[in-house]
Amino acid sequence: MQFVEFARSQTALRDAITAAYRRDERECVALMMEQASMPAEQVASIKALASKLVTQVRRERTKSSGVDALMHEFTLSSQEGIALMCLAEALLRIPDRLTADKLIRDKISGGDWASHLGNSASLFVNAAAWGLLVTGKLVSSHSSQGLSSALTRIIAKGGEPLIRKGVDLAMRMLGKQFVTGETIEEALANGREREARGYRFSYDMLGEAAMTEADAQRYLRDYEMAIHAIGKESNGRGIYNGPGISVKLSAIHPRYARMKHERMMAELLPRLKGLFLLAKQYNIGLNIDAEEADRLEISMDLVEALANDPDLNGFEGIGIVVQAYQKRCPYVIDYLIDLARRTQHRFMVRLVKGAYWDAEIKRAQVDGLDGYPVYTRKVYTDVSYLACAKKLLAAQDAIYPQFASHNAYTLSAVYHLAQGKDYEFQCLHGMGETLYDQVVGKDKLDKPCRIYAPVGSHETLLAYLVRRLLENGANSSFVNRIVDENVSIEELVEDPVAEASRFGGLPHNKIALPTDLYGSGRKNSAGLDLANEHVLQGLQQGLHASEQQTWLAAPLLADAEPSGTASQAVLNPANHQDVVGQVQEATREDVEAALQAAVRAAPVWAATAPAKRAEALDRMADLMEANMPALMGLAVREAGKTLNNAIAEVREAVDFCRYYAAQVREEFDNSRHPALGPVVCISPWNFPLAIF
Ligand code: FAD
Repeated sequence: MQFVEFARSQTALRDAITAAYRRDERECVALMMEQASMPAEQVASIKALASKLVTQVRRERTKSSGVDALMHEFTLSSQEGIALMCLAEALLRIPDRLTADKLIRDKISGGDWASHLGNSASLFVNAAAWGLLVTGKLVSSHSSQGLSSALTRIIAKGGEPLIRKGVDLAMRMLGKQFVTGETIEEALANGREREARGYRFSYDMLGEAAMTEADAQRYLRDYEMAIHAIGKESNGRGIYNGPGISVKLSAIHPRYARMKHERMMAELLPRLKGLFLLAKQYNIGLNIDAEEADRLEISMDLVEALANDPDLNGFEGIGIVVQAYQKRCPYVIDYLIDLARRTQHRFMVRLVKGAYWDAEIKRAQVDGLDGYPVYTRKVYTDVSYLACAKKLLAAQDAIYPQFASHNAYTLSAVYHLAQGKDYEFQCLHGMGETLYDQVVGKDKLDKPCRIYAPVGSHETLLAYLVRRLLENGANSSFVNRIVDENVSIEELVEDPVAEASRFGGLPHNKIALPTDLYGSGRKNSAGLDLANEHVLQGLQQGLHASEQQTWLAAPLLADAEPSGTASQAVLNPANHQDVVGQVQEATREDVEAALQAAVRAAPVWAATAPAKRAEALDRMADLMEANMPALMGLAVREAGKTLNNAIAEVREAVDFCRYYAAQVREEFDNSRHPALGPVVCISPWNFPLAIF
């Protein structure tokens, strides 16, 4: 039986990408530091330009923002403004307008909003980020109590109409801040003034992570229509000078994941190719946005297929986004350069730091992976960005580099590294324009910048908005620090290589590896990364071996032979031709013998030291972990589990054993915790290991 869908042969460069996922962070950082380091004079020039940029941005920030209109119109204090934004965000999560309206009418305008929108702490969780937007500076603490009473005050002041109007305005303002237009036509029109000033655009049709085929088809149509509109607007300006488009693959297929490899090559690839053919027809660039780390390898398979497709021969608009926060980034770049040369393409490669950092860390912990796909210190990502920028700039024949960052030091470093090279900067609509206003234009640094411009209605904004809020709100992020007057310019423009070496290239001391998540008392159960080709190959072999084994399940008796009923075949519920093994049911005599043996052994067990009992549990956990593929094979074939569920089943069993072992070791002694004695347990079929 084929458990894992395999489609491509590994080349050495692809292998290097796969291997880098599991490389030690220290090793990766050391390599990046070596490649990113620059002569002292160059670092000094980079700092000087970055300081100049920062000073100017700080000056510009004090000019009024669109938020003022809201504050002015509703005569709100900044605290009320922040509370209102929090409320607007919460209401945005309610999918249909009717329910949101009802909620406002019934509950919120009556002042009883807290019990209907969760407790106030969760309502105000993004207060810091909203504060940044509303007041233009970081306010050190917004107590949820203060914000609660601010909200009650607004409600008392104006009741329902005020809330409705306020929320509506807040939403439109947010829209204006982060979205270029609700439709592509509107966005194109809104972009013209900035195009005249020398900016370029890459439009993004908001929407990602389609849950259903219908959603995916809708997003696909949106993209197709957008390409026609952008193509006409571009009117032959070409890939580099004209506008382009950015696509999230999770928007155009609801099952975009490594585990669905065969399906993706059969279903997603043709959709993507269709979009590229349209883009080619108009000669505009199409960028494939980078999403979560577990989608990196499959995205490379798709890119490889596109690059090898004769229908796209000679097209220079194939764009790929790479994330510097991933340990795999430099290897991805090596591979892309090689692929471009092999297939006689010139790719556009957008280098970003990466937008899913929190999620990557959490996923690796939840899944019990060997390590993190991303760096654990922000400054390592900054260093990696510079090393990767150099790599991209060194391959002008194969790559048109696009440097996306809102960080003045990163910008300045790229500017210095790229003297005489062909490249562009990129920024997000509503986030980096004050910075890039000093870059774009003949009287400025005279470098082009493309604005990533989301297009869509407010309802589709949420996922994107949350990422921007995370970025704006993170206290390590540049856009956050630049508006914090407590951070000096010297701190803002520090050389990341020097800073990284002060940390000795060591992983963040507060971010334990997934296996050490529970501290020294208990090891986290090890999972398997089902998006890693090497892991998949190993797993495939293990599952195959488990399938070849003759399995016999029979009563396990301490000192008697089972009395023996005839064994029966156990069939795979998904495929009755697949005989998993044989089972010999227990007879009454077997049960009796088991109970008697247990009763006889009970005093010895009761007298066994807790540490010894804990050891037995730990040994069981280790053995289950070591036999993961065999146990998974059984869970898949006997209980009909998916591979993911099978991993979860084994891991849960392992975690239970280790958890109780730790408890026994720490808290038990035989005088206070007498053993229960024999216990009968009937393990349910659906959790054969974990619950037993
Ligand atoms: P900085 O403040 O200098 O860097 C912030 C970044 O540092 C974080 O985003 C994170 O990547 C990293 N970081 C933060 N904390 C840590 C830590 N503890 N350890 C390691 N690293 C850390 N992102 C995508 O993922 N896919 C895309 O396709 C994509 N497209 C984009 C297109 C454009 C035009 C732009 C401007 C951005 C795009 N982004 C994309 C978002 C981008 O990843 C973030 O905007 C970017 O990371 C912010 O970096 P910065 O240099 O502006 O800011």
